[in-house]
Amino acid sequence: TQVSAQPLIVGRNEHGISRKQFSPNAIKVLYRLKDGGFDAYLVGGCIRDILLGQQPKDFDVVTNATPDQVKKLFRNCRLIGRRFRLAHIVFGREIIEVATMRGHHEAPEDKNQISQSSDQGQLLRDNVFGSIEEDAERRDFSINALYYSINDFSIHDYANGLAAINARQIEMIGDPATRYREDPVRMLRAVRFATKLDMSIAPATEQPLNELASLLDNIPAARLFEETLKLFLNGKAEANFLMLRKYGLFKSLFPALDSILDSNPDGLEFALIQQMFRNTDERINAEKKVTPAFIFAALLWFPLLQITKALQEQEQLSEYDAFAQGMNKVLSDNAQHIAVPKRFTLGARDIWHIQHRLDKRSGQRAYRLTQQPRFKAAYDFLLLRVQAGEKQHQQLVNWWTDYLKQDINGQKELVKALGTQGATKGRRRTRRRSPKPAAE
Ligand code: ATP
Ligand code: MG
Repeated sequence: TQVSAQPLIVGRNEHGISRKQFSPNAIKVLYRLKDGGFDAYLVGGCIRDILLGQQPKDFDVVTNATPDQVKKLFRNCRLIGRRFRLAHIVFGREIIEVATMRGHHEAPEDKNQISQSSDQGQLLRDNVFGSIEEDAERRDFSINALYYSINDFSIHDYANGLAAINARQIEMIGDPATRYREDPVRMLRAVRFATKLDMSIAPATEQPLNELASLLDNIPAARLFEETLKLFLNGKAEANFLMLRKYGLFKSLFPALDSILDSNPDGLEFALIQQMFRNTDERINAEKKVTPAFIFAALLWFPLLQITKALQEQEQLSEYDAFAQGMNKVLSDNAQHIAVPKRFTLGARDIWHIQHRLDKRSGQRAYRLTQQPRFKAAYDFLLLRVQAGEKQHQQLVNWWTDYLKQDINGQKELVKALGTQGATKGRRRTRRRSPKPAAE
């Protein structure tokens, strides 16, 4: 879809949104800008979500005031951002983001032009000020280019976003392939909005996805971590996973796992990953905590087993050493494109490490294991493995489930009842320290 110079204007009594649905602080910001002589609109996700009956996460404002002019109007204003400068107006815990309308990046002879693109067409800098039409043109999807004006409470629709909302279509503004090349993360955003809003991706917007999926390799690893978290922690992780797979995007994020899933589409691996996302969604929707450590432990589990096996065979390493080296390898491979912060990779290591210790329960071992900070997550992970079909661990998981319900005496009884079972198998190993995590 294209942006037109003449927006469709839908009046205050026609669009059905009442001002009360907006954050009072956002309305305050709009009035302050208006009274300062500037244009100001609410834009993007908040208008879209309210029209669709969802609760907006946050309220974004655009204005023709420059960041410095915004700063002069508000005492509680902080200027932020490197890629583009933004103003944050801070009201206690709520932050209203105020952006200056952004324009185009052509006209290379222009000295003030501070927008650049790479030879793959990716936008590197994008902070030229512009008109509202230009601002609409550089937004991603038509449903995200709806502007609510404080002057007359009307909605200004530059890209047929209202029609797209009615048709439940995620539709790229401009030429989809060009826009994906400018910023490949838009491919992930298309998926995220489709599942979040229960919409489909319009045919022309969908068409380039498979072909361009590998452009995600050019995105900085820190940004990809942020975007994958948004995909996995918004209560739609399972649907996002399936849709990312469908468009070849999952492959660019998790190449090793993706090829394992491809080689055995009905296997245990797929079942475990799908179940993990299903459980994640359930927890999120019940407002329970989810840690990225668990999600990444699961996503990298099968690649870890694969690498461990290869190291055992090729390098003649013991299972223990191969597993330890495998952890380093799988995490450093992943860090090439997704920068998972250390606190989460350490958590994933603990979860993996404990998997091998869960059957060693004799003496004080079971008790000591439960004192480890990641024990509960590791137990949940074993539960997940059994849920996904590893029936050989069913008894073990039942034992632990039972154990966790007992008081200290009951626990001692359970350990005693194990007899020789549950002791370290084979010859006793000298105790070893956990392998040192390698730099990732
Ligand atoms: P949500 O906050 O629910 O994830 P949102 O639409 O508010 O959805 P944000 O990431 O907060 O998404 O971005 C706010 C607005 O900025 C979007 O609605 C869109 O108009 C614009 N925008 C954000 N990211 C991009 C991008 N990569 N390319 C073009 N426009 C973008
Ligand atoms: Mg938002």
